[in-house]
Formats: sequence, C-alpha cells, structure tokens
Amino acid sequence: LLQAPFLAKFYCTEASLQKEDSTADSQGVGGYKGHDMLAPFTAGWQSTDVNPLVIEKSEGSYVYDINGKKYLDTLAGLWCTALGGNEPKLVAAATAQLNKLPFYHSFWNRTTKPSLDLAKDLLETFTATKMAKAFFTNSGSEANDTQVKLVWYYNNALGRPDKKKFIARTKSYHGSTLIAASLSGLPALHQKFDLPAPFVLHTDCPHYWRYHLPGETEKEFATRLANNLENLILKEGPETIAAFIAEPVMGAGGVIPPPATYFEKVQAVVKKYDILFIADEVICAFGRLGTMFGCDKYNIKPDLVSVAKALSSAYMPIGAAMVSPEVSDVIYSQSNKLGTFSHGFTYSGHPVSCAVAIEALKLYKERNITEHVKQIAPKFQDGLKAFSDSPIIGEIRGTGLILGTEFTDNKSPNDPFPPEWGIGAYFGAQCEKHGMLVRVAGDNIMMSPPIIITPEEVDELIFKYGKALKATEERVNELK
Ligand code: PLP
Repeated sequence: LLQAPFLAKFYCTEASLQKEDSTADSQGVGGYKGHDMLAPFTAGWQSTDVNPLVIEKSEGSYVYDINGKKYLDTLAGLWCTALGGNEPKLVAAATAQLNKLPFYHSFWNRTTKPSLDLAKDLLETFTATKMAKAFFTNSGSEANDTQVKLVWYYNNALGRPDKKKFIARTKSYHGSTLIAASLSGLPALHQKFDLPAPFVLHTDCPHYWRYHLPGETEKEFATRLANNLENLILKEGPETIAAFIAEPVMGAGGVIPPPATYFEKVQAVVKKYDILFIADEVICAFGRLGTMFGCDKYNIKPDLVSVAKALSSAYMPIGAAMVSPEVSDVIYSQSNKLGTFSHGFTYSGHPVSCAVAIEALKLYKERNITEHVKQIAPKFQDGLKAFSDSPIIGEIRGTGLILGTEFTDNKSPNDPFPPEWGIGAYFGAQCEKHGMLVRVAGDNIMMSPPIIITPEEVDELIFKYGKALKATEERVNELK
C-alpha cells in the first residue's frame, strides 16, 4: 500500500532492470508512459514517467504483462485470487449468470436466487460461532463500513446512544472508504484526508518481535496488550465503546500473526464490557491460514464478520458483513419499528458476483482447500524462513500461505535501513526482474500466493526469493 513518493524513483529502477531483459523500452513497459488514472496507492502518479507494469493475462499462479513476460504472482493479485488466474468453473458460473440474468437488485423485498443461495452457503460455511444473516457489499471496505452502521443502529435500538466508539489496532488495514480508513491504523491513510473520524480509537499492534519488552514472553506481551486495551476502555468509559475490530492475522500492516494467547485475552476484555467483536476476515477467510476462517484458527467467537476478496476468488467484486443472531434480532425489531432497514447498495447481492462466489465456495470445499494449505504451508513457510539468517533480514513471519519479510540492520527492529536506500523496493525490483511479483511497503515484503499454488511453484518462489535476497545483500554492502 503505502509507498513514500521517493520510492517512485526506485520503481523507475524496475524499468531499467527490465531493460536488461529487453522487455521494456524508453516508453515504459509496452509503450505505456504515465497514465490517465488517478491510480490507487501509487507513488509518483503525478509524473509523466511512472511506467506502470501493465498486466494482460493470468494463468494459475502466474500473470503476464503486455510484453508477454511471465511473473509468479506471490500476492494473488491483492491477497485475493485464491483459485488462481484462469479457473474455468468460475468463468462458466459468471457466463451462465450473465446470459440468464446479468442484473437485478435486492431492494424492497425483491431479490435474485444467487444472492439468497450465497447467503445460505456463506452462513453455513462460517462455523466458529453462529452467524444469522449476511449483508452483501461490493468490497471489504464497504463490509467494514456496513459493520459500523449496523453497530450504531444496534446500540440505538437498545437505547445506548453513547455506545458508539470503535477500537481498532495500530497498523491494521480495514479498507480506504471514510470509515474503513478511519478504522485502519496506518497514518498514511489518514494524512491530509482529515481522518481518522473522532469515534475511532487505536490500541496496540500485537507485533511481538517489534514491541515486546526485554525478557517479556509472548504470553506476557499478550497480557500487557490486553491490559492496555482494558485501560483504554476504562479511560474512555465502557458505556462509550461499541466494538473492537481485528484481523486474525494482520495483512497489509506487514503480515503480523497474533502472539500466543492474544485473542483469548482480548476477547475476555471486550466481553467483560459488553463490547462487540468484529472479525475482519477479508484476507484470512477461505483457507489462507489452513483453516476455513482465521476465527477457526485462533478460536475467535465474533459478533460480526467481514469477508470479501477470496469470497469470489476476486473474479467479481463482492464482500459481505455477517452478523450474529443477537445482533440481527435487534436490527430486525428496530427496522420493523421504523418500517424499513434503510441501508444498501445498487450492487448488494449482484447476481453475477453471487453466482461466482457460490462456485468459489463449492470449489474450496470440493478441493478440500484447507487440507491443501495445511500440506503445502510447511514447504512455503520453512523454505522462506530458512533465509532468516540473512544479515539484512530482521524478521520473517507468517502462517499458512501468508508471509512477511522485514529488512532491518543488525537483526534489530530498532535499526531500520535509511529510507533513501529503498531496500524493500530494490528487493521488489529484483523479484520483478526474475519474473516474480511481491508486495513492497517500505522495507516490508509481503506474500500470499494463490492457495492453489503447487509444490513446484513454491520451489520456484523460494529460488527467486533467494536470488533477489542475494542481490539485495550485495546492494546493502555497496551502500554501507
Ligand atoms: N480488510 C482487510 C483486512 C483488507 O486487507 C482489505 C484490503 O486489502 C480490506 C478490508 C478492504 O477491502 P477492499 O479493498 O475490497 O475494500
């Protein structure tokens, strides 16, 4: 996500690296120089020589640019194309639905069969605790915005007009709409956007390596964070705190799995003060961690759950906000009093998106995707964590098919490389040169490959990572 503008320079270095492969010319990749889009999360869009990498085709775990160069897509698009690039069954599901009914809405007691069927499938698939209703959105951001509105509506119905604040965590990512960006704990999402909104508070990021005190164990660290959360609630007044939101494994903030006992402890705190728990499963759901949902892995019993991305394997835009029976009962009785539930999008439950998502859920189950991830994850995790000894790597962390690498000097969280060295960007450019795409954010590298990735592709990923790492180590030596 968040690249400082200076990194645009390093992305231009990518173009020069590609020149060595003669896949780029002076007009940028394939002749595209700059672009007319106000491009999301892009550094340097305002200049005329951004040289975007233009992707044209995908196939399994690979994507191809407009010059035909092939890349192993280790981020599965944006943590989302779980079933890879050209799954014919998803294409067939979309085509069949487009031919039959490309659109109808779900307002005013009118709807479509795919949206009803998907709601049922989704609620049955989530088993960590019972969810009673699913509200469809177009994205993860809209799902989280919807959760905030639902929680306010719920507390108003219960006669608790002051119970309106949300607690999220530093370094979390919950999306980029007004509310989702406010919930997110990444300063770049707030700066100059007049965010976060005043009803959002942020508590500690549960990153043990970076934030533990000398001699503190993971469990002690988790206890301290739960105590800090409780103190924040008490300081603000429990009667003002509506909900706590958390990703089971933090994704865009740098891939941060929770420390041992963390979720057990924070759940006990929020329950004590009648605060709802929102699980943001937008990245973790549908097998990524080796369990169907992140909540299954960490024994989280949420009141509300947000999903998107892999729900349709990203073939069509769709997200959902699921709510527990207790929350939905209150929402229903309030809506009955008011006459209607006045929230929705033109494309809530879009039939083509729903048809694709139904097929994706079917494929996850038929192909026993959680078992596949459990089988392949050790190769992916151990293969990459074997590079942890590198003198330029501070930490490699992850679980299942999600992994983050953080470059630091002296193996210390407190010794970052000078930002102007652009070490993360250099590593990213090296990967790109060798035909592999990774996510770069400062000196953090993130990966969450398609969950259908094969053992041979994991070998290729590790091999290319090793080559890029060696070149980056040499670069650091030169710069020192
Ligand atoms: N929540 C999490 C955990 C995410 O990672 C993201 C996107 O990366 C979102 C929400 C926002 O989803 P979208 O980009 O579909 O709005």
